[in-house]
Order: sequence, then C-alpha cells, then structure tokens
Amino acid sequence: MYRNYTCGELRLAHVGQEPVLAGWVQTIRNLGAMTFIDIRDRYGITQLVADENTSVELKEQFDKLGREYVIQVKGVVRERSSKNTKIPTGEIEVDIEELTILNKAVLPPFTIQDDTDGGDELRMKFRYLDLRREVVRKNLELRARMAHIIRNYLDELQFIETETPVLMKSTPEGARDFVVPSRMNPNQFYALPQSPQIFKQLLMVAGFDRYYQIVKCFRDEDLRADRQPEFTQIDCEMSFVEQEDVLNMFEGLARHMFKQIKGIDPGEFPRMTWADAMENYGSDKPDIRFGMKFKNLTEVIKGKDFKVFDEAEYIVGICAPGCGEYTRKQLDALTEFVKRPQVGAKGLVYAKVNDDGTVKSSVDKFYSQEELAKWVAIFEAKPGDLMLIISGERTRALSALSVLRLEMGRQCGLTDKENFKPLWVIDFPLLEWDEDSARFYAMHHPFTAPIPADIPLLDSDAGKVRANAYDLVINGVEIGGGSVRIHDSELQAKMFKTLGFTKQEAENQFGFLMEAFKYGAPPHAGIALGFDRLVSMLAGLDSIRDVIAFPKNNSGRDVMNDAPSEIAQAQLDELCLSLVTPKSKG
Ligand code: ASP
Repeated sequence: MYRNYTCGELRLAHVGQEPVLAGWVQTIRNLGAMTFIDIRDRYGITQLVADENTSVELKEQFDKLGREYVIQVKGVVRERSSKNTKIPTGEIEVDIEELTILNKAVLPPFTIQDDTDGGDELRMKFRYLDLRREVVRKNLELRARMAHIIRNYLDELQFIETETPVLMKSTPEGARDFVVPSRMNPNQFYALPQSPQIFKQLLMVAGFDRYYQIVKCFRDEDLRADRQPEFTQIDCEMSFVEQEDVLNMFEGLARHMFKQIKGIDPGEFPRMTWADAMENYGSDKPDIRFGMKFKNLTEVIKGKDFKVFDEAEYIVGICAPGCGEYTRKQLDALTEFVKRPQVGAKGLVYAKVNDDGTVKSSVDKFYSQEELAKWVAIFEAKPGDLMLIISGERTRALSALSVLRLEMGRQCGLTDKENFKPLWVIDFPLLEWDEDSARFYAMHHPFTAPIPADIPLLDSDAGKVRANAYDLVINGVEIGGGSVRIHDSELQAKMFKTLGFTKQEAENQFGFLMEAFKYGAPPHAGIALGFDRLVSMLAGLDSIRDVIAFPKNNSGRDVMNDAPSEIAQAQLDELCLSLVTPKSKG
C-alpha cells in the first residue's frame, strides 16, 4: 500500500492517527533541530515535521532529499502550534516516523508554485511539470467537470453519443484541411475533420434523432489566443426540429452549465439579428455587457466643409460615458489605437461634453456649438461624456469602431469577467461574395438552409438571402453556431450551383450526401459549441491554451515533443511522398 490518505485530507479530527502519505517534495526547511517538509499531491499539501529526537538514519534520508523527489511517509498526525489558515490541512502536521524515497528528481527548470518563475515557452516545454501546479491543473479539472455535466445533461435528453471518423473525406467548413496520406491507397489522402458535419447529418438520415459528441476538430488556420489547430467541439444534431427548438435546447444546456459551475442564472438569452448586430455594434459577436451602441451620423453631419466626413460613405460613433475627462495624451493614444493596421481607421474625431453642456471637439473649426448640440442629442450624451466618431467605407468604419468600442468598454471597467451576457445572433447572410475568386461562399457551410421566405431570392439576388443559422455569443466571444439544414436534395443541388460547383464537382464531393437525402432525410438542424472557449470563459481565462492539457504554440508546434517533425525517407517512400523545398512565405 503506497498511501491511505491524500496530501489534502488530514484535519484536526485525525490527530493521533498514523497515516501513510505519498507525493512530491514541495519544500524542505532544515532549521537545525527541526526539519519541515511540505509534501504535495493533486489534492493538497501537508506539512511533515521531524524534531531533535529524530533518528540519525531519518536525518540522513532528509539530507538526500531535493525538490520534487517522490516520497512515501509514515507518521503521526499532531495539532500544529502555529496554524496556517491558508490551506485546508493547515491545522495539523505529520510527525515523520519513516520516510522512503520512491524516486529521485532532477531540479525542475521552474518552481512548481502558483506564481512560478517559469516563462511561457519553458512551461510549455515542460508542460508535465507545469500541470503539477494547482493553478494550471484546476483549469483541467474544470474542463473534466464540464464535460461530465454536458454528457449527463444530453444523455438525460436521449441524445446518443456517437463517434464519427477521424480519417475522412474533406468537409468544407471554410478552413484548410489537415491531410493524412494513405499508404494503402498511394497518392490519396484522408482529411482530418474540420467538423463531423456530414456524418451527423447522415446520422439523422439514419434515424438517430438526437446525436452529440464531444469531439476533436482540426483546422489548418493561422493561430490566435482563441484558436488551436486541434480543438474540441460539443457537436450536436437533432431531427424534426426548427431553429426555435435548437436554440431552446442549447440555451437550456448553457444555463444549466452556468448554474452548476457558477451558481448563476443569466436569464433568457436575447436574440439579435445579424443586421442589427452589425448596425449597432459593428460586429457579429457583440459584447453586450455594456451599451455604447453605435449611432449612425452619415445623414446628419455632412455638408459643413469637413472633407473627411463629406467624402465618407459612412459616419458612425459611440458615446463613452464619463470619459470627457480624457487628456489630450489619452485622446491621441486612442487615435493611434484606431489607426493601427489591425483596426484600420484613417482617424478619429472626438467631442467632449463639458460640465456646462457646451462641447469641445477636435473639429470645432467646422462645427458650431449649435451643430455640436445635435450630436449631443443623437448620442444622448451627458456632461462629462466623450463622443468618438469614425468615418470611411461602411464595413471598415463599423469594424474599426467595434474594436474601439471594446477598448472603451475595457478602459471604462465595463468588462467584468464574472458578468456573463449571452445572446443568440440569428438571420446571418447565407452567402458571402468573394471579390478575388468572383464567387459566393457559404457563410456557415453549404448545408445551411436559407430562411424559407428568402428562397426565391436565390435566383435573383443571392447575396440578400438570409440563412436559417444562429450563433451563441457570450461576452463578445463566439461560443458556437449552427443552422437548420437543407434536407431536400434538389435545394441542396441548387445551393451547390449557387456556390459555383459544377454538377460534376458537387457529385464528386457530396454525391453520397445527396444520394442519402433521397432515402427519406428528416428535417434536421444542429449546432456545435466550442468546448475550449466555453471552459476558458468559465475559468475566467483569456486563452484557450490554458484549458488544454498539451496545447500547441502560435506556430502550431508542440514544443514539448517537437511536432511536427521530419519523417524517415523509408516512411516517405512507403507513402509515395517526396519532399520539396518550401517557397518562402515572404
Ligand atoms: N459544423 C458546424 C461548425 O463546426 C456547426 C454546425 O453547423 O453544427 O461550425
């Protein structure tokens, strides 16, 4: 028997008992007569102690110990004279009687403590040591708990958890595929799933009625804090349902999760059309923890000889409450902020409402107090507020202002991480026009159904067709999305045609799906929620990396085992692959 208690278990009630503990050496303090050792495992830390009466043999053992040695200890639980209120075992200590070194350890490259001295790169290289730290491990524990809650919830509601293939044919979700060469079928490749989309729809044709899977998906995209090449989705599909049924079902799941994990009920999730989200927040994933809704000024403030506005397609602004005190320096910094290439505005016009109601603006030369009073009315600005205005091409102006709005929300302290404000964004456009390839792309994926009333537009004005699609957005993060599917093979064929597939191309890629739809496909709809994002949000973290046991870095590398890596020539030969010198990305 290695142990009969964990290192987080002993309390005053155990005083006098003789536990056996096993774990890692957190610290050793040798104070001459007394020796203190903190022993740690996943469950906590227990203080071990030996006094001047300790045997010579035991003392020799102590001299051999180092940090992170794996030890086993037998001793007697005693009440501590000076108690540590910060840890649950802080009222007791264990008087060491026997100590066995189960394994030695070399000195770890960083301290195994909540506030470690290890940098990011080092911690990732030695991730197994990083994961020993409580602050890191507790995120993974939360992840496991959430997965469990989801399974219980969906199982109760008759969803069948079904595994779908990892080696499959490419599904178009709009990103690049990771491909896997097939040895048995030379010059042919599998794709790793960007999502199990086609399979879950086929499961509906199969009559499964309710499917779910907590599943790894793979997308070969440029990485950011909230993206990894492999990530996990809560993937679901339901038959004989409409949009309303799916929204209610997964709103139920999300609310249940908030209740279980956070003890809160965020209430019914509001719904917002995509068009309203763009108009009012410049974003299809608005953060509605705070207001600062956009005001469209295009029609109102032109014609005063201010060329920038007069020539602009769109003029739009927000009112930042209480920011009228901003100094020149702060305002210049905001202007620089919006002019960064990532934000893309040409400039920023500001106007402060003074205490006496007059306005001081950066364009006083062109706008009289009377004119500026109109701005105040539109923004419903109060003394002490700051109006910020961006102009230019419509989509650019909206998107730049949306970044500025988030920044102002942050600067005004309105983005409390523990304040959760979910919403559904609905009625997305079905298609997106791409100038370069002069063709439409499916905004969601090609299996998404149009809103029935818009179907006739497919022939006349396809860009105007709205999709029967929805996204779940929480605090400005897209947590997931889905759609009602096309279940009619003719409509599906028409969709492929609109997307510029020839009959042959559609047949080659999706023939099997259209074939399946001929055998009685039920009306169906589904959704996928980003599990990593959901966990990191409920953990109060900014990066999904912190909720993934072994994440990849920004260049998609696993710095611990150095993947991806070269493979042997023999392996290449077997796969009929030959290496080429990569073109520089320059
Ligand atoms: N397959 C979609 C995605 O991964 C989700 C869905 O439509 O269910 O984004």
